[in-house]
Amino acid sequence: MSDYLDRLNPAQREAVEAVDGPVLVLAGAGTGKTRVLTTRFAHILLTRRAFPNQVLAVTFTNKAAREMRERVSALLGEPAEGLWLGTFHALAARMLRRHAELVGRTSNFSILDPDDQLRLLKQVMEARRMDVKRFTPQGLMGTIQRWKDRGLLPDQVPRELDIDWGAESARDLYAAYQERLQALNAMDFGDLLMLATDLLKREPEILAQYHRRFRYILVDEYQDTNLVQYYWLRLLAQASKNICCVGDDDQSIYSWRGAEIENILRFEQDFPGAKIVRLEANYRSTAPILRAASALIAHNEGRLGKTLHAGRNDAEGEKVEVLAFWDSDEESRAVASRIEGLRADGHKLAECAVLVRAGFQTRGFEERFITIGLPYRIVGGLRFYERAEIRDAIAYLRLLAQPADDLAFERIVNTPKRGLGDTALRTLHERARADGVPLAEAASRVVAEGGLRGKARDGLRTLLAQFAEWRETLRLDGHVVALSTLLDASGYIAMWQEQKTPEAAGRIENLKELVRAVAEFETLGGFLEHVALVMDNDNEPDDDKVVLMTLHAAKGLEFDTVFLPGWEEGVFPNQRALDEGGGRALEEERRLAYVGITRAKQRAIISHCANRRIYANWQSSVPSRFIEELPEDAIRTGGSAALEQRNAPPVFATARPLVAARRASGEHADAWAATPRPPRTDRITEGTRVFHQKFGYGVVIDAEDDRLDIRFDNAGEKRVLDRFVERA
Ligand code: ATP
Ligand code: MG
Repeated sequence: MSDYLDRLNPAQREAVEAVDGPVLVLAGAGTGKTRVLTTRFAHILLTRRAFPNQVLAVTFTNKAAREMRERVSALLGEPAEGLWLGTFHALAARMLRRHAELVGRTSNFSILDPDDQLRLLKQVMEARRMDVKRFTPQGLMGTIQRWKDRGLLPDQVPRELDIDWGAESARDLYAAYQERLQALNAMDFGDLLMLATDLLKREPEILAQYHRRFRYILVDEYQDTNLVQYYWLRLLAQASKNICCVGDDDQSIYSWRGAEIENILRFEQDFPGAKIVRLEANYRSTAPILRAASALIAHNEGRLGKTLHAGRNDAEGEKVEVLAFWDSDEESRAVASRIEGLRADGHKLAECAVLVRAGFQTRGFEERFITIGLPYRIVGGLRFYERAEIRDAIAYLRLLAQPADDLAFERIVNTPKRGLGDTALRTLHERARADGVPLAEAASRVVAEGGLRGKARDGLRTLLAQFAEWRETLRLDGHVVALSTLLDASGYIAMWQEQKTPEAAGRIENLKELVRAVAEFETLGGFLEHVALVMDNDNEPDDDKVVLMTLHAAKGLEFDTVFLPGWEEGVFPNQRALDEGGGRALEEERRLAYVGITRAKQRAIISHCANRRIYANWQSSVPSRFIEELPEDAIRTGGSAALEQRNAPPVFATARPLVAARRASGEHADAWAATPRPPRTDRITEGTRVFHQKFGYGVVIDAEDDRLDIRFDNAGEKRVLDRFVERA
């Protein structure tokens, strides 16, 4: 039963078999750190050292948690259940719900998203009549967040760290904000680790309980832990010392969120005699990809230093492509048609990823993918649960679950319109403050006593009565029925239906999707927990779609083909790093570039544009310095014909000729040279009924050259290219 160990090299095996005592695996990208951790997990269980629920395993994303769960299940040959496996945030939240009363909450406390956090902080500041234009809540939130990342409760912030925020002290405002959170029975993200750590420090009994439970601790992406996460781990590992952390200092990309690379040094101090394992064979990427990544990261100073060599014994592999385009439109067109080419060659879309430096860069690719009907999904960025209609619906659910959730109350009390203006809201706020009760409770008092007038009073009375009914529905028929009922009865769906725009139709689609999502959970509480923690929505089903995401979100993942667009000075490295004149910020950008290249197994395609629109203005741009840092022998350059020849037709390369041409002409083939689009013989005209793979059936309402405006039966109006539709 030890064949799972045979799939490891000797160094990996050593890291897996050294189960007792502290272990630190420090190794470069793709050397199997995550594989070591997963195998170690299975090894602990299979050698009967612990039951599944006695291992604490920390991953960096929910996606990674799911993968780890699957890998452990596969190794065990049965579904792994009852695991303490997840992100720091998810694990801390789980811990806090079990002991909520000890941190001044009840177990159904809500976890605020960043929007709500800001709104709340702003209220705290306004209540003190502060000028929130000059001393912004955003700035203060950053300061509070940094304190939380270091595990500092308001009364633990040293005086010398305190700063003036307008006429107030930041520390006092922080204290007031924490009080508000507690009154709302809520926490923000930063609270999860801070309060969980504080709890373990204050309650030796509870700590002892967890010491008995967690016999082994496993931590992935250790280089990106912040101080409070480290404290939490150290407390939990104190007794058994069976803690294994894996990480790569070259992939530390979250210092802006308080991650401390020094945690690697702290580990060796706090766990003397820790076994340090280094892995050097990379099993993920081809040799040229590795050469490019290694040469790039070598430009950073102050590294712990590691060697990396190809562990795959296949042939040399394709060189890293560096391509120049005229502008970002052309870049996204080229990337999209290259992906179509790969698909035509039998590659899976889900094995193609486009990794961008900043969220705004995804839009151009999205638009292109939508136009040509290429299925894609966004991981991170603007996400399903962040869309306005979804947030509204979730606010209804939150209020249903927790009448004290004032932020949810405020969000929906006048959505749809119920005649409650600012004056009415102020009345409610004043009453809530005076009586020391939540807004919903204040509202029922005001209504019962005949406060407010006319429409506002009627609207509010109806809403309160409805909430009472929906709570009954929730109790009797469950959360799915309750959600459908309230979306209808509240007039929320009707509000969008009245708009009759394709956009509103899309929103209604999203709401239907939400009902489906809710149905996947056993309880409303379970669903709300999921939403709060999985705001990065990386839990979608893994059907075959191109993956679009930021470099930050891509950590730990791997794809056959990786596109790295927008490698221009000011975009990547970003302007902030340049403004700082190099130094730490620039090194972090370079680590991010290293993370990007090392996601690729077979091919990495870097690109840059000569012109880019920044906000409303076109600017000419300069290729990223990172491109110059790539070694000659690992790359080949190319670009669009349009750079030399402005009137070239758009790049509609079809797959086979492109790949064949590249293979045939070797090194410097211009892989992106335009292959003219085959002319369409059966021109589709206005009024024709057509079928599109993604959008279904529809009628052409306008046709111009190869572009068709189509009114789809179920997908609203869209503009698509004629070669992607068929006559119906
Ligand atoms: P990252 O730093 O990007 O998180 P990592 O060090 O965690 O990378 P893994 O994701 O564990 O690396 O492994 C990279 C790839 O190499 C995976 O596809 C994994 O299955 C494969 N791999 C790891 N070890 C071996 C091995 N001994 N033999 C063959 N393949 C391996
Ligand atoms: Mg990994």
